Amino acid sequence: MTASFDVVVVGAGPGGMAAATIAAETGKRVCLLDDNAGPGGQVWRGFRTETAGKSAHGSVFLDWTGRLQRTDCEVWTGWQAIDRPAAGVLRLERNGEGRDIGFGRLILATGARERFLPFPGWTLPGVMGAGGLQAMVKAGLDPRDKRVVVAGSGPLLLAVASSLTDAGTKIVGVYEQARFAQLACFGLTLLAQPGKLAEGARYRLKTLRAAYRLNSWVVRAEGQGRVECVTLTDGRKEWTHACDWLACGFHLVPNLELPRLLGCRVAGGYVAVDGCQQSSAPGVACVGELTGIGGLDKALVEGQIAGWAAAGRESEARTLGAQRQRLQRFAQRMDRTFAPREELRMLASAETHICRCEDVTHAELKGRGSWREAKLHTRCGMGACQGRVCGTAAEFLFGWEISGSRPPVFAARVSTVAASAETADPVRG
Ligand SMILES: Cc1cc2nc3c(=O)[nH]c(=O)nc-3n(C[C@H](O)[C@H](O)[C@H](O)COP(=O)(O)OP(=O)(O)OC[C@H]3O[C@@H](n4cnc5c(N)ncnc54)[C@H](O)[C@@H]3O)c2cc1C
Repeated sequence: MTASFDVVVVGAGPGGMAAATIAAETGKRVCLLDDNAGPGGQVWRGFRTETAGKSAHGSVFLDWTGRLQRTDCEVWTGWQAIDRPAAGVLRLERNGEGRDIGFGRLILATGARERFLPFPGWTLPGVMGAGGLQAMVKAGLDPRDKRVVVAGSGPLLLAVASSLTDAGTKIVGVYEQARFAQLACFGLTLLAQPGKLAEGARYRLKTLRAAYRLNSWVVRAEGQGRVECVTLTDGRKEWTHACDWLACGFHLVPNLELPRLLGCRVAGGYVAVDGCQQSSAPGVACVGELTGIGGLDKALVEGQIAGWAAAGRESEARTLGAQRQRLQRFAQRMDRTFAPREELRMLASAETHICRCEDVTHAELKGRGSWREAKLHTRCGMGACQGRVCGTAAEFLFGWEISGSRPPVFAARVSTVAASAETADPVRG
C-alpha cells in the first residue's frame, strides 16, 4: 500500500471537490482522485482558473478550486479506481501502473454518463453522445461550420447546442423526445428556481436560429461510411436533415459500478443514502449524480454534507438538509420529465447492433430471459465498455435488471488485477 488517508474521495467533479474540501478544511487527511487530467468532472470539464471566469458556472468553479487549493488535500489525477481488494483499500491504475490506497472513510462521487438508445445507423461515425461531442470539442476537436443535429432528451441537449454554437457550429435543430405537457409541468416547477430558468433561457437564446421541437426523436441515421443525414419523427410524420454530426443522448444514468462493487444498496436506479449521504455499505458515502441526476447544485450540497459527515460533524451536515431535499425533488422531477417514451423501444431493427463492442444484434438478444443469459450466450456487455452502453440500453429495451458489478470495474492490466488478487479480502474471495 502506498498511502493511507482518513478520507478518500473518488471523482473530482463538483460533488467530490466539495466533499474533499470540507473534510480537508476540518483537518482530516484527504485524498481526492479522478481519472481525468484535472478536477472539474463533467460540468467543469476543461475549465482553467485563468479563463473560467467567462464561462457559465465559472465563478462557482473558481470558489471551490480556491478553497480546495488552500487545504492540504492531495489531488491525484489520472488515477482510476478499479477494485476494492480488501476492506478499507482501493486499487487504482494509471497508465498501466497499479497502486493501493487505504481509507478510513470513502466518498464516492463518480457522476453519470449519457444513456444511448440504439436506432438504425447509431454506430455510424459522426453519431456521438451530445455530452460526448461537447467533451471532444473542449478537448480540441474543431467544430467550425459543421452541421449538427442535436437529439434525445434532457437539459443537456440545450446546454450542448449552446456551447457548440459558441464554438462556431451550425445547429440544424434540437429535438427533445419529451412531450409538451411534461415539459410545461417541469417549466412551471422551475418558476421556483429562477436561476435554472434563466440558464435554460440563455441556452435557448444562443440557439434561436435552430429549430427546437418537443415530442420528436431520431428514427435512423444514414450515410456512406459516416453519417450524412438523420431522419426524425413526431410519431405522425417523418422528416430528414442533412448533417455532419448527430449529437444524441437520452438524459443521464449514474455510474453505479463502483458503489455496487462496494456493496452499496441501489434502489430505483440510484444509490440509497441517508440524510448524511451514507450508503448501506459501512463507511461509504455517495454524492451527486449517484443519488439522483440533479446537476451542479445538488452535487455541491451533497458533497458538503458528506464532507462534514466524514469529519464526524453531522450537525453541520444537517444544516444543509432542507436544500438537499429541494434539490432531490428537482432531480426526481427531471427523471419523470425526461423518461424515455415507449416508442423508443421500437427503433432498433433486428440487425441493429445493441452491443457495439461485441457486435451483438437486437435479434440475438430478443427472447433471452435475462441480462445474465444474454451475456453468457452472446457476449453482450463483455467488451471494452463492460456493458456501460449496451447494458443501460438493454435494461430499457428488454426490461432486464442489471444488478451486479465485478472487478475490475474498468479495463485494467493483468498485472494490476493479479496484484489485486494477491491482497484479496478472504471474505470476498
Ligand atoms: C457527458 C456529460 C456532459 C455534461 N455536461 C454538462 C454541462 O455542460 N453543464 C451541466 O450543467 N451539466 C453537465 N452534465 C451533468 C453533470 O453530470 C453535472 O452537472 C455535474 O457535473 C455532476 O457532478 P458530480 O460531481 O456528481 O459528477 P461528475 O461531474 O460527473 O464527476 C465525476 C467524476 O468522477 C470521475 N470518475 C468516475 N469513475 C471513476 C473511477 N472509478 N475512478 C476515478 N475517477 C472516476 C469522472 O471521470 C468524473 O471526473 C454533463 C454530464 C455528462 C455525463
